[in-house]
Amino acid sequence: EAKRRGKGIWVTYTDEMGARISAEAVLIREMGQALDEDQFVLHYQPIVRLCDGAISGVEALIRWNHPERGLVSPLEFIPVAERTGQIVDIGRWALREACRQAAAWLAAAPHRVPIYVGVNVAGRQLRDPDLVTDVATALAVTGLPAALLVIEVTETAVLDDEQSHATMEALRDLGVRLALDDFGTAASSLGLLLTCPVNSLKLDRSFVESINTVSRQAAVATAVSQMAAALEFASVAEGIETAEQAELLRGLGYQYGQGYLYSRPVPPDGISVLRSVADLESGVLLETGR
Ligand code: C2E
Ligand code: MG
Ligand code: MG
Ligand code: MG
Repeated sequence: EAKRRGKGIWVTYTDEMGARISAEAVLIREMGQALDEDQFVLHYQPIVRLCDGAISGVEALIRWNHPERGLVSPLEFIPVAERTGQIVDIGRWALREACRQAAAWLAAAPHRVPIYVGVNVAGRQLRDPDLVTDVATALAVTGLPAALLVIEVTETAVLDDEQSHATMEALRDLGVRLALDDFGTAASSLGLLLTCPVNSLKLDRSFVESINTVSRQAAVATAVSQMAAALEFASVAEGIETAEQAELLRGLGYQYGQGYLYSRPVPPDGISVLRSVADLESGVLLETGR
């Protein structure tokens, strides 16, 4: 009886494992074709100046427009692509496409304050010695000024890694800016902030989520914004969903915010529309003196 149950469990376990492995094998194979078949798209989420709601930049977020499954989330395929190394080619495409789009926005509205584009770079890409050349080429080919590109890296990706630090220094030498993404989530040392050549910190969404109800979250958020200010980094709060969160974070010293309150990530056309609306609204705010 016990033996039969044990055997049953064993069978279920291997079936599930098998299914998972083959699903991943399919994903890996299809990802390989997706690049050739132009199935990746970038959506863009505005990054807003908290004092007046103006859009100062956007973050490029990749989606896979799968022929059968529709838009697939990066959370599903980026970690796999990191493991297989496919992220290097996919990331090179994303970088080029984001620069092309940002250069197009710039060309379409030369009289306006330009918006920058943030591009996520995985640890694997940061350890790729060709990354600096890829970035330089993307800028040269698209004509995007280096100052309008922000490379987003995570703490985990840069921690204790000589190659990553050297790559970041070289990116800075190109005139590109760097942001430390998902700040506060990794088991990193604060000493990282002294050696890592970043320009901004992005406070992770997990702190923002419960900021009005959990005072410990607010305490950490405060410490991060004060540290950013003292080190002359810009501070961005991610995942702002309510006006209360925005108001609180602004009060805690955050200069920029990003989240569903302002907009979900949208296809490129949506950004032009959002920019006009934001301009109008910040104009109204200035007029009424609020
Ligand atoms: P991330 O860089 O931290 O991007 C922010 C994520 O939070 C995005 O998820 C965005 O849609 C989501 N988000 C923004 N505002 C809110 C909000 O108010 N509430 C909630 N619940 N979520 C919000 P997304 O697009 O699914 O991307 C997930 C992650 O995938 C990114 O996290 C990034 O690490 C990775 N990723 C996305 N695009 C790329 C890429 O081109 N290259 C690489 N290497 N990684 C990418
Ligand atoms: Mg990011
Ligand atoms: Mg983030
Ligand atoms: Mg995140």
